[in-house]
Amino acid sequence: MKKNILLPGGAGFIGSHVAAELLTRGYDVVIVDDLSNARADVIDRLERITGVRPAFYRIDAADKPALEQVFAENAIDAVIHFAGYKAVGESVAKPVSYYRNNLDTTLTLLETMSDHGVKELIFSSSATVYGVDNPAPYTEDMPRGGCTNPYGWTKAMIEQILQDACVADPALRVVCLRYFNPVGAHESGLIGEMPNGIPNNLMPYITQTAAGIRKELSVFGNDYPTPDGTGVRDFIHVVDLAKGHVAALSYADAHPGWEAINLGTGCGTSVLELVGTFASVNDISVPYRIAPRRSGDLAVCYAATDKARRLLGWQAEKTVADMCRDSWRWQQSSAKL
Ligand code: UDP
Repeated sequence: MKKNILLPGGAGFIGSHVAAELLTRGYDVVIVDDLSNARADVIDRLERITGVRPAFYRIDAADKPALEQVFAENAIDAVIHFAGYKAVGESVAKPVSYYRNNLDTTLTLLETMSDHGVKELIFSSSATVYGVDNPAPYTEDMPRGGCTNPYGWTKAMIEQILQDACVADPALRVVCLRYFNPVGAHESGLIGEMPNGIPNNLMPYITQTAAGIRKELSVFGNDYPTPDGTGVRDFIHVVDLAKGHVAALSYADAHPGWEAINLGTGCGTSVLELVGTFASVNDISVPYRIAPRRSGDLAVCYAATDKARRLLGWQAEKTVADMCRDSWRWQQSSAKL
């Protein structure tokens, strides 16, 4: 049976890659996005990649009447919810705006899903819900909380809201996917991450430095208790991550209730290792200097991946070299947009 999947926030970095995977596999896709952090031509690009044009509504997912109309016009079978603000630093400066936006979109979606009898939801969560008190590798049964910024708390709070909703309605089927560090881009070079202004995240900063847009990368701290002193993260290729969402949809079809599942590789890579791999596979230099630690950063963060393998039959396949190659290809092609 063909399924019709609603993607609030589906024009963004991760949403667009999930849309490409779904369209390629014959799902119908309806994207809802206010384009506050995405571009309208992503829809054209998805059509070029897949040969199918997704339905698109330029609306805010927290706009109840507008969302209501989307549900009225499309027989939605499941929702994959990406709509939310995601800049950690900005969330510290504008906490109320982050809580308002991220919680509002989720609550509006849940109400509208309920009005239309839609029971399946995959939520874009984050490893940040493990906070500062759990040791890596993170397993899904560890306590949630101890987040270091409002962005992280919105993810933890939304997970709680979804858990409570599942208790109240046993027919709901919800999977919270906890992403580690998504990087890379689609191999077509047509979609990828488009940070607004100066990037906060490591990979876009590396690609912009390699491209000469930034003078040098600041490596935030080289005195962590890690092999080379720099932070260790679980970088995961966004196309692997997207495939994890398709697997989660199949899982949720058959499993009522709430689940949290990590999407990571299970392997830690340090900041300097990533810089070194990027420079060598792309044969380009990435000037950097060691800078003070960034507040709120953990030394080490990587996933336990057993649950994803067991429940979803999914595991990441692409290497750090693939991530570096695809991120660089995207940097070069996006410069021409
Ligand atoms: N990082 C860095 N320089 C930068 C951006 C990030 O050294 O310009 C480091 C950061 O301290 C962390 C890692 O890169 O150890 C990943 O940071 P990112 O912001 O990409 O993701 P996070 O793990 O914080 O969600």
